[in-house]
Amino acid sequence: MNNQNPNTINMFKRQTSGTCACISCRQLISVSDPICPGCSRKNPSLWGYSRAVRGLGVDFGFTKIIIWGCVTLYLATLLADLEHIKNNGIFNLLSPSIRSIWLFGASGSLPVFDRGCWWTVLSAGWLHGGLLHIAFNMAWLNTLALQVAAAFGAGRLVIIYTIAIISGFLASSLAGEFLPASLHGAATAIGASGGIFGLLGAVVAYGQTTKDSAVKQEAWMLAIVMFVIGVITPQVDNWGHFGGFIGGYLISKVPGIVPCRPEGLEQLGLAIGSLVLTLLSILMAIAHAYTLNFFDLPAFRALLAPN
Ligand SMILES: [Zn+2]
Repeated sequence: MNNQNPNTINMFKRQTSGTCACISCRQLISVSDPICPGCSRKNPSLWGYSRAVRGLGVDFGFTKIIIWGCVTLYLATLLADLEHIKNNGIFNLLSPSIRSIWLFGASGSLPVFDRGCWWTVLSAGWLHGGLLHIAFNMAWLNTLALQVAAAFGAGRLVIIYTIAIISGFLASSLAGEFLPASLHGAATAIGASGGIFGLLGAVVAYGQTTKDSAVKQEAWMLAIVMFVIGVITPQVDNWGHFGGFIGGYLISKVPGIVPCRPEGLEQLGLAIGSLVLTLLSILMAIAHAYTLNFFDLPAFRALLAPN
């Protein structure tokens, strides 16, 4: 007996008979089809879970995972050092202490080059410096991520986002270490905006691939306007925005990532691998901070000194 409402999706129920949409190309297939007649994908019903996964939305729920991850880590950075939460004006409302953001994996030339914490180029993309910072980034991410998921696929969204975070913090750390101070590289940098600029780069690449000049122009306009706003706003890591945009654009040109192609298990696997690596980078930052006791190092004490 099956009186299940077809509109409700039971996440844990495996579909064993009937039809479902191919996980890659969405063509209607039989659950038992070993290969999709439309796109030749193997295991197109995802062992009978394709309907449940599709029910998570065009991004398979990855956007929610990123947002909740960032919110959880923001709360953790506040709770880890309650005494030193800053409230200096609108841009620094409910701002976690510098000790806290270093503990959870802030990036920039100090952690990457002076301390050798190379894994922070990934962890820092999930940390935020204040209420306005996280609210703005998450609202923007929510819109763009769904567009990129629709154009590229859910797995590719996560891959592009992760690569853009890494390239963004590499750019700001390299600029902080090797360029003159007047060019504003970052000693300490955090935030999802490099990853978000990477999604804009991906939309530009999508416009080029599909020869959709309206989409391409819109993404360019948005990137330029947001970049200029960053340049005139204090404390913004503009090298991170620039590096993230370039990383997101370039990875979107790589075979296997290019838009409008069905996704396979490789893309989904890489996406989940990216999220696991991110979690490891944060755990590594915490473990490293405690084992080396770097809060007692002179460079760190100088950072904490009242200015
Ligand atoms: Zn298919």
